[in-house]
Amino acid sequence: MSTTSQAAGPLQIAYTVSFPEAQAHYADIEMEIKGLAQSKLNLKLPVWTPGSYLVREFSKNVESFTAQSGSKPVSVTKTRKNVWQLNTQGLSSVKVKYRFYAFEISVRTAFIDVTHAFLSTSGMFFYPEGGLNLPSTIKIKPYKNWNKVSTSLEMVNNDPFTVKSPNYDILFDSPIEVGTQDVFDFKVGDTHYEVAMYGEANYDAERLKKDMAKVIAEEVAIFGENPNKRYVFIVHNYAKGSGGLEHLSSTVLGAARDGYAKESTYEGFLSLVAHEHFHLWNVKRLRPIALGPFDYDNENYTTNLWIAEGFTAYYDNLIVRRTQLFPVDHYFTALAGDFGIIENTPGTKIQPLSQASFDAWIKSYRPDENTINTSISYYNKGSVIGMMMDLEIINATNGRQSLDDVMRYMYNEYYKVKKRGYTDAEFKAAVEKFAGKKMDDFYRKYINGVEPLDYNKYLGYAGYHVFNENENLNLPDLGIRTVALAGGRLKVSGVLRGTSAWVDGVNVNDELVSIDGIPATDLKNLIPGKQVGDRVQVAVICDGLPLVIPVTLLKSTIVRYNIQSRTDLTPQQLAVRKKWLKI
Ligand SMILES: [Zn+2]
Repeated sequence: MSTTSQAAGPLQIAYTVSFPEAQAHYADIEMEIKGLAQSKLNLKLPVWTPGSYLVREFSKNVESFTAQSGSKPVSVTKTRKNVWQLNTQGLSSVKVKYRFYAFEISVRTAFIDVTHAFLSTSGMFFYPEGGLNLPSTIKIKPYKNWNKVSTSLEMVNNDPFTVKSPNYDILFDSPIEVGTQDVFDFKVGDTHYEVAMYGEANYDAERLKKDMAKVIAEEVAIFGENPNKRYVFIVHNYAKGSGGLEHLSSTVLGAARDGYAKESTYEGFLSLVAHEHFHLWNVKRLRPIALGPFDYDNENYTTNLWIAEGFTAYYDNLIVRRTQLFPVDHYFTALAGDFGIIENTPGTKIQPLSQASFDAWIKSYRPDENTINTSISYYNKGSVIGMMMDLEIINATNGRQSLDDVMRYMYNEYYKVKKRGYTDAEFKAAVEKFAGKKMDDFYRKYINGVEPLDYNKYLGYAGYHVFNENENLNLPDLGIRTVALAGGRLKVSGVLRGTSAWVDGVNVNDELVSIDGIPATDLKNLIPGKQVGDRVQVAVICDGLPLVIPVTLLKSTIVRYNIQSRTDLTPQQLAVRKKWLKI
């Protein structure tokens, strides 16, 4: 923070957003600042949006930035990629204008076309350096037929097109949807929920109201209270929409427009609802100490995304299970899927979970062809760690307590009482408190180390066991991933560590021509009739030149898990199962 630019007095800030060229994906933004008393004013734009751990350089979308005071131009100098410095010597007010290009469809980036505007606020609205605590108002001038604004920000004077924010942390955590969206609402306890549906989609609003309310009620029961009086779901329905981003009092979900009628994708949507809504506690309020107050200029490093994201991923399916809306075997299919993703990712033996979290900025959010060999997802593995800790506690307490109690205790202790984030040691201490045992060994092996997860030990507490359906198959495998090229040829897009292709040197980007003279066009059937130990000639085009690579076929290491109930359950296993899955 520079002294010249620190807000000397309370500034009054009002934005006006209009869309004269929505068809070209632009917003025109005016920022009026009154109460100036400093000689220079630095206006900044965040480089990232909380919840999505990548520096996205939103200022690349800014153009035609000008400032004036009355009718006089104010000189502007750019001093950093995301900082514009205004010469405000002798001025009491200034009006800044800029245009913002918004054409990236995702839950964490702004998007504008003639059908709607999604304003991802952290990437669009400048703030005065040193002034994150300042309130502001935002007036929306809709394009043509747009008639609604959906946001968790409060209206000003009952004008639905003018909203206000008490400070920038709230503004940057409150996306705004503008357009002709369908809106429906419902209540859970005293909290009013609004669902803003952008885009045609085959949803049944009445069914969604009932089922979303059930999901939400399960979550409120875990934490013991709902801190929001009002909460907004902004749902973007696209052909292949997906993903979600959590906020304090709202969320943005991407959904497939035809996915609501099919049971599996409908269940997936409810799981996404459960995930993002669970975040209003886990990460938005109960948070790792590094995740708030945010540094909007730089990466914010934490080793705890396996709790913030992984545990949220654990609870999303578990909560949908607990609503009893779907059969229990759906839950086990998803859980076995998580086990499979972990074990079929060679990086699980390389990167500890805590490091996966810390390096999210440069690894998880910037994947390349070797990511599968060097990294593990803190979503999948963090979710399974959540399950293991949950079962440990339930078993240790004969079904009296669970991970729910840890989450509620941590929420009360750190968000409400201490009013700060938790450290690694504090979270571990809370798990130990409820498990009634030290977790040093668990952390050494599974959080800070890369030892194989002992699924059956923990599932066994609830009378289940998992087995690898591929265990006794002695199938050969090349160990490559491919993408299809025009003309039917396959290009190698990944080579898995330790496999035949890895050992004998098949390269990423090689175009497969044939294997032992047979055209290699069908990935599922590349090596028909071959046995483990056979030597095959893999003909490829490597950097434009033909090359033949002799490859000795190794046994496939791909696992496929299946979870089954044991018979002859003990009373303790039954008690654990009941507590865990509500069955
Ligand atoms: Zn999440």
